[in-house]
Amino acid sequence: MYTAQQYVKAESLQQAWELNQKRSTKLLAGGCWLRMTRSRVGTLVDLSGLGLDTIEETEEAFVLGAMVTLRQLETHKALNETFNGVFKEMTRHIVGVQFRNCATLGGSIAARFGFSDLLCAMMALDCEVELVGAGRIPLQTYAQMPCDRDVLARIYVKKNGRKAVYQAMRNAETDLPVLAVAASELDGQVRVVVGARPARAQIVDAPLSISAQEEQIQAVCDAAQNLAFAGNMRASEAYRRHLANVLIRRCVAALKEG
Ligand SMILES: Cc1cc2nc3c(=O)[nH]c(=O)nc-3n(C[C@H](O)[C@H](O)[C@H](O)COP(=O)(O)OP(=O)(O)OC[C@H]3O[C@@H](n4cnc5c(N)ncnc54)[C@H](O)[C@@H]3O)c2cc1C
Repeated sequence: MYTAQQYVKAESLQQAWELNQKRSTKLLAGGCWLRMTRSRVGTLVDLSGLGLDTIEETEEAFVLGAMVTLRQLETHKALNETFNGVFKEMTRHIVGVQFRNCATLGGSIAARFGFSDLLCAMMALDCEVELVGAGRIPLQTYAQMPCDRDVLARIYVKKNGRKAVYQAMRNAETDLPVLAVAASELDGQVRVVVGARPARAQIVDAPLSISAQEEQIQAVCDAAQNLAFAGNMRASEAYRRHLANVLIRRCVAALKEG
């Protein structure tokens, strides 16, 4: 468990950002990860009073506040109808309902965990991250940046007709994923993302059309093998590489079936 010398309930995003420029500061979102650490925090900045716990729908996008919980993402009707259930699929295996009622979108994406279900699945959609001060950048760019003193305020998910699917392999129902794959389709072009290798999710750099035959799908599986994979207590590197082939094929098949 962490300890904190000072607690501040932020009154504005600007205040949260300013306090967070000090290395000893930590932002408090759901607190689920933080409480597992033994950090000695100087100032703990609580983001819960900033009205960032809403999911808003506009003509162009869904605007997800950083303090939206995983459970909100899992159960939001319009969000799941628009993206054929992918938000439910990316969250429903994470620990349990009580946990998902606390853990937040912002805490999940900002931490950029190598095992993250959300980072992998949301990279298949067209998402932009809004950072206090720095403005909006693509999630793909943010995912590769080092963790720093930024404050994530919102995530914009474009409503452009992109369809996505997500599949993860776990050794046990609520354990961390051993491997995760997301795929999406827009205008006949397919994007494949592989995460939990265990390393931050990455887009596979190979073209794939939705009408692709075996040869092109195999080429994407081969390209995915160029990503970094590793072994740990959950699975060996070889098993993860094998799973990547299997899950990519399953995701592409699911997209083809619509
Ligand atoms: C036991 C356990 C099992 C888990 N299993 C999974 C799993 O299977 N799949 C999965 O994807 N995830 C999993 N997670 C991660 C979890 O879903 C959350 O991502 C995690 O708890 C962080 O979210 P939080 O709201 O609790 O953040 P907190 O613990 O409050 O914060 C975590 C970190 O993020 C920073 N932070 C928080 N909000 C912001 C923000 N808005 N801007 C910038 N930085 C911010 C904080 O300063 C802190 O360093 C697991 C976590 C735990 C503890």
